[in-house]
Amino acid sequence: MLELLRRIVEQVNSAQDTNQALEIIVRRVKEAMSIDVCSVYLNNPNTQQLILMATDGLNPDSVGKVGLAFGEGLTGLVREREEPINLSDAPTHPRYRFFAETGEGEYKSYLGVPIIHHRKVLGVLVVQRKINQRFSEEEETLLITVAAQLAGAIVHAMASGDISILNQADNEDRRHLLGLPGAPGVAMGTARVVYPLADLDAVPDRISEDTAGDIAQFESAVELVKADVISLTKRLSDVLPSEELALFDAYLLMLDSGGFRTKVVQNIEQGQWAPSALRDVINEHVKVFKAMEDPYLSERSDDVRDLGQRILAYLQQESRQQTEYPLRTILVGEEITASMLAEVPPDRLVGVVSSRGSRSSHVAILARALSVPAVMGATDLPVGRIDGRELVADGYTGRVYVNPSVAVRAEFKRLLKEEAELMEGLDSLRELPAESPDGVRINLYANTGLLTDITPTRNSGAEGIGLYRTEFPFMVRERFPGEEEQRQIYRTVLEAFDPKPVVLRTLDVGGDKALPYFPISEENPFLGWRGIRITLDHPEIFMVQIRAMIRASEGMENLHMLLPMVSSVTEVDDARKLISRACAELREEGYEFREPKIGVMVEVPSAVYQSPNLAKRVDFLSIGTNDLTQYLLAVDRNNARVAELFDSLHPAVLMALRQVVEGAAKYGKPVSVCGEMAGDPASAILLLGMGIDSLSMSVSSLPRVKWVIRSISRKRARELLEQALEMEDAISIRELLNNALDELGLGGLIRAGK
Ligand code: PEP
Ligand code: MG
Repeated sequence: MLELLRRIVEQVNSAQDTNQALEIIVRRVKEAMSIDVCSVYLNNPNTQQLILMATDGLNPDSVGKVGLAFGEGLTGLVREREEPINLSDAPTHPRYRFFAETGEGEYKSYLGVPIIHHRKVLGVLVVQRKINQRFSEEEETLLITVAAQLAGAIVHAMASGDISILNQADNEDRRHLLGLPGAPGVAMGTARVVYPLADLDAVPDRISEDTAGDIAQFESAVELVKADVISLTKRLSDVLPSEELALFDAYLLMLDSGGFRTKVVQNIEQGQWAPSALRDVINEHVKVFKAMEDPYLSERSDDVRDLGQRILAYLQQESRQQTEYPLRTILVGEEITASMLAEVPPDRLVGVVSSRGSRSSHVAILARALSVPAVMGATDLPVGRIDGRELVADGYTGRVYVNPSVAVRAEFKRLLKEEAELMEGLDSLRELPAESPDGVRINLYANTGLLTDITPTRNSGAEGIGLYRTEFPFMVRERFPGEEEQRQIYRTVLEAFDPKPVVLRTLDVGGDKALPYFPISEENPFLGWRGIRITLDHPEIFMVQIRAMIRASEGMENLHMLLPMVSSVTEVDDARKLISRACAELREEGYEFREPKIGVMVEVPSAVYQSPNLAKRVDFLSIGTNDLTQYLLAVDRNNARVAELFDSLHPAVLMALRQVVEGAAKYGKPVSVCGEMAGDPASAILLLGMGIDSLSMSVSSLPRVKWVIRSISRKRARELLEQALEMEDAISIRELLNNALDELGLGGLIRAGK
């Protein structure tokens, strides 16, 4: 049965349009279940009817004509109850309704299952037989499974205007697709769909017929791709912060690394032809990146795959077609990689819409860096069918309109103009402090860590680095970086900001964020060997890192060390012992430095309850709301399916934050927030009200949050916090805060327009 289902789904997915897809479904289901009739009915919200859209068995002329009011007939009842109805003798059911034009009079047994997408019933899938006999349980579950598969395809079709009968005069607002907000702003433009140049997965296994020739071909393809990457980097050097540009250097590094090049050559020498030798090595790399817990590193698996596809394209000697980019390009794709983004001339790129990924995907981070609105995780996006169509993408709400009406277009034009005015206003805040009207000063810091070049961060008005994720330098190598290598990296950051504070977080790998050269395989990685748990188990790795940090700080006083994933006080005690030992050793070796300030990340529920005990032991606490929300709400932070449940404004998260502030206050220790929540304008109000001392966020969020803090008094923020803490769910809290932002004239921060 599974195999059968897989084949039906494959055929449906390769259908030219939705009507064809529906026809395939009714035909194949009818064959597979040996039944007399299979039909699909879909909602028409305008007429409040279920329309017969496809049938195999009933009179084909009735397709598109027969309509049942929503509550009418057995099919209406399936829709109403949102559950299957399985009857041996349908005509005797009190809700049975007979349609002469379909010729269904002769059918006795009836099974209808609802087609549901994201909790909404889209229609009903119905099968019928002449004989008087209930459908078996197996048949019922098969039909439920088919209906579940069908739901996504129908939403695609409706979004691209494919099922015209259901779209006539439809309410425009219903016609948008919903993704996740990726980068703020609104974009209006023309969709340009991008896809990988060559398909690695399609490469067949073959024996190399000319080993030397294959190796030479591979080497030359790598050189060509390197040249492409270099020219892309040059083209982007004016528009993309150099911190982000450094990522391309990482690609070059990978292309040159022995682990990559030598392995492909080895595969060829062992008999494989170049394309499959390449495919296997790329797949290995992709697997390692995918397994990483850190979202931006794990998203880089797409970039690794993209590099592989590019090499393959050259290997296949495909003349690479130059893509034409419209004047106002909205880049659309299943998986948009950094280099796809880089291909678009910057003056033509107005938006990004990706059917995969989330706010923390690398492409979303890049879009924010470029100030380009982005919608991520638009899973229902009919990617294959919207190239060249007009799009409106709203990066605040995650809405995407395909072929928007004149009215929608006019509205978004107005909003775009207002957005431009808003951005000009925000720019003027750069040099001003984040101080509330009643004189409360909050330090605004930047999160960074991609690589060491931090010039754009320095120009952003950030008052220091609140979170430097040290994982990246560890990722791009093939072994743990040495003390001197690390020292140089850390020194660049510390020097760039001296005397402003720089918080270097100690290595936070493990779980599903494994290093390529340090594989960890676990059943439940988020609850496994992560962060401080690893570094304490491997003092040789930890000592090298903390020695490098301390040595990097010679002559400066701004080093702060931050310990990730702490779940008990003994971890802090043990880490402090190692840090003291490193300090003593370094002093003996003749280095002169000031002892670093030590902080603990509060990102695990146990750390919330023990915040006073932790505060007693360290100089500051920093709340990682990404992991804290994940662990408190039991919602995987990287899983698009449960992304709606991931909300740092959940009352439980707010209560936890307040508890941490109170815990730290007992020992007079400052608290900062360095998760994504810190960069959310609405949340910033509550964090101000709670008495958080500093916020650390991505550079593009800084001016927005600064504007909030400069506009609202601590007193008002406290009142709002009290009200929020009385509320029972995140939606009401967000509404409260959005209203407050509107009252303050800051509505432009939460939605399109001013
Ligand atoms: C967090 O968990 O909120 C955090 C800042 O750390 P990371 O996102 O690197 O896990
Ligand atoms: Mg974390």
